[in-house]
Amino acid sequence: MLKNNYLVGFPRIGEQRELKKVLEKFWAKKCSYSEVKKVACSLKKRHWNYQKEAGIEHISSNDFSLYDNVLDTSFMLNAIPKRFKNLKDEELYFAMARGNKEETACEMTKWFNTNYHYIVPELSLEDEYVLDASKVIQEYLEAKNLGIKTKINLVGPITYLGLSKRVDGGDCYELLEKILPLYEELLLKINELDSNILVQFDEPIFVKDLDSKVYDLIKYTYDKLGSNAKIAVVTYFEHSNEATNILVNTPIWAIGLDFIHGKENLISLEIIAKSDKKLIVGVVDGRNIWKNDFEKSLNLLEHVTKIVKKDNILISSSCSLLHVPFTLKYEEKQNSEIKNWLSYAVEKLDEVSLISKIFFNKKYDKNSFLENSKANKSRKTSKLIHSEKVKNRVKNLKCLERKETYENRIKIQKKLLGYEELATTTIGSFPQTPEVRLARSGFKKGLITQEEYLKEMKTYIDKCIEFQEQCGLEVLVHGEPERNDMVEYFGEQLKGYGFSQNGWVQSYGSRCVKPPFIYGDISRAKPMTVEWISYAQSKTKKIMKGMLTGPVTILNWSFVRDDIPRSEVSKQIAVGLSDEIDDLQNAGIKIIQVDEAAFKEGYPLRCSKIKEYESWAVRDFKICVSRAKKETQIHTHMCYSEFNDIIKTIEAMDADVITIETARSGNELLKIFKKIGYKQEVGPGVYDIHSPRVPSVKEIKTQIKLLLEVLPKEQLWINPDCGLKTRGWSETKEALINMVEAVKQVRNELS
Ligand code: GLN
Ligand code: ZN
Repeated sequence: MLKNNYLVGFPRIGEQRELKKVLEKFWAKKCSYSEVKKVACSLKKRHWNYQKEAGIEHISSNDFSLYDNVLDTSFMLNAIPKRFKNLKDEELYFAMARGNKEETACEMTKWFNTNYHYIVPELSLEDEYVLDASKVIQEYLEAKNLGIKTKINLVGPITYLGLSKRVDGGDCYELLEKILPLYEELLLKINELDSNILVQFDEPIFVKDLDSKVYDLIKYTYDKLGSNAKIAVVTYFEHSNEATNILVNTPIWAIGLDFIHGKENLISLEIIAKSDKKLIVGVVDGRNIWKNDFEKSLNLLEHVTKIVKKDNILISSSCSLLHVPFTLKYEEKQNSEIKNWLSYAVEKLDEVSLISKIFFNKKYDKNSFLENSKANKSRKTSKLIHSEKVKNRVKNLKCLERKETYENRIKIQKKLLGYEELATTTIGSFPQTPEVRLARSGFKKGLITQEEYLKEMKTYIDKCIEFQEQCGLEVLVHGEPERNDMVEYFGEQLKGYGFSQNGWVQSYGSRCVKPPFIYGDISRAKPMTVEWISYAQSKTKKIMKGMLTGPVTILNWSFVRDDIPRSEVSKQIAVGLSDEIDDLQNAGIKIIQVDEAAFKEGYPLRCSKIKEYESWAVRDFKICVSRAKKETQIHTHMCYSEFNDIIKTIEAMDADVITIETARSGNELLKIFKKIGYKQEVGPGVYDIHSPRVPSVKEIKTQIKLLLEVLPKEQLWINPDCGLKTRGWSETKEALINMVEAVKQVRNELS
């Protein structure tokens, strides 16, 4: 029976993270590969059944993966880097994903603007690509054996190439001629399996601003593929109007568009209608955790049917549900009012199904509709969400930036703080020991008293300070033992923030994260860090740096309410943090670092939207630090080094000091700071903290000298690339001792 609904893809990690658990067991050599496959099969079966029971018509196969779908595609095309050529099967697969004793893993990077990471394909002109269709076919047959005829999901060739890198230099799209025939061959194989199988090509790269040359390739590719099979090309995370314009003139069967994150797709309705193609309308948000507003979705659909024939419409999720947690079933402790606003993957299946039933006048449960509108009405008025006080304060904000110019501030600060040229510091966290972790979780679970907890933390801080003093670092940190995570720690103390019990989302491979969510107006109930930092400062005569996570990073690493613009939420957080900064400086803290690790991550996919993002992101960083006195030195930290495109924006944030990650790229990426005449002080990381390797004094000296070729010593700070919490104590100590020694030697040589 036709239900006219569709699901782009489903999460695979399992409702209790079964896939994660079995993979990690296998990697630890505690179970066999057949055990992994057994768990995978049962997960797939369960996931298909969830979708079937919910009444989804177009259910996917090949959306499952033991690690990553892009890696699966490389496997399918036999795109194996040379260094792995002597391996095969699962050994090869996991070596590419995670490295092995001999070889480093393939690079991993973020999937568009999500927190999902894919394995970057390494391609080269001289490589031979051959088709291995086994996974695709096997998964289809697995579902078929259970009585479910699936569509088959594939990463589209343009997106695959667009996300690849050429190890021999050159443009990945040159390789289209090599891989397109394999996709064609695959379609032939798929057609042999059954009649009329639908094949979904995921082409999210179409939502980016592409070269005109790539648009030509879209036409060429889908003219070929579309004449071989029944194809749906699906895009998401933004609008893809340029590509839609082209796709309507190719022989594909359907186009899938995201109407949540790409409202501009509405512009394409006319040409889609003319083409008589099916339109997969993404109305259920696959990126966020809020209950759908049926009334709103139905209004949108009514608008769509004014242009596109109703028979041609399929109701869908906006993208794969990979990006949301699995099920609300385990959120037993959640406040019931809040829980009633939420919807995870399993609940979203029902939403897709129900919206399609209502829209196509099929029988449906009227109560579900009423409950949905009640829940959405309650979000509009609930006291848990709306605070007049917060709204008014943010609206009437007067102080938007620091009063004194950087030039004046830095003179005063240098005199007052008295740090030397090439001043040494660290980024904030020190190694998280098992004891500290245990104390934190024990305290949370009520297994130890507050007194015991505080004692454990203070002991850690004491030791941390003692080491830093011995080592000779100049600006100290307390080590962040009380923080589980740099966003969660603040979220837990801010009003308007919620936490899930089991809201795990796959980040990469077996790794999952549990992002907190912002449901209401944000405010700070009381100081969040002042006691810790004051305690630490009381233990040393040296300067203790206070540590905060910045508003943009807090925003970008959370699920965010969708009833007001993100920029409003960010501003509320900034105002809350500005109080914290004021409290810290009044408590005698002279340097405060505001981490913006995720500043760059928040950049929009479309160039035309960047200006707007930058303007409020910079605004909110500045609001956050606006009340710092001229004497208070503001640092910020960012975990990357590619600043070429955004250096002016970074400068506009007006921090006194920025520490960044640069160790792996020498001084190359620092040159932009010089080029634009960047005035503020910079602390480019002098060693990589991602590996346990201890850098020698000589190495660090070389790195410092490289930095000095670009920026003068008056402007430079010396520090590691990032926080040290994932490192062990022994390597951390050795590395920092070497760093301080290297600085000493360089200073001597300079004077
Ligand atoms: N202050 C944090 C730390 O040192 C910064 C972490 C980050 O930038 N990701 O851990
Ligand atoms: Zn960092």
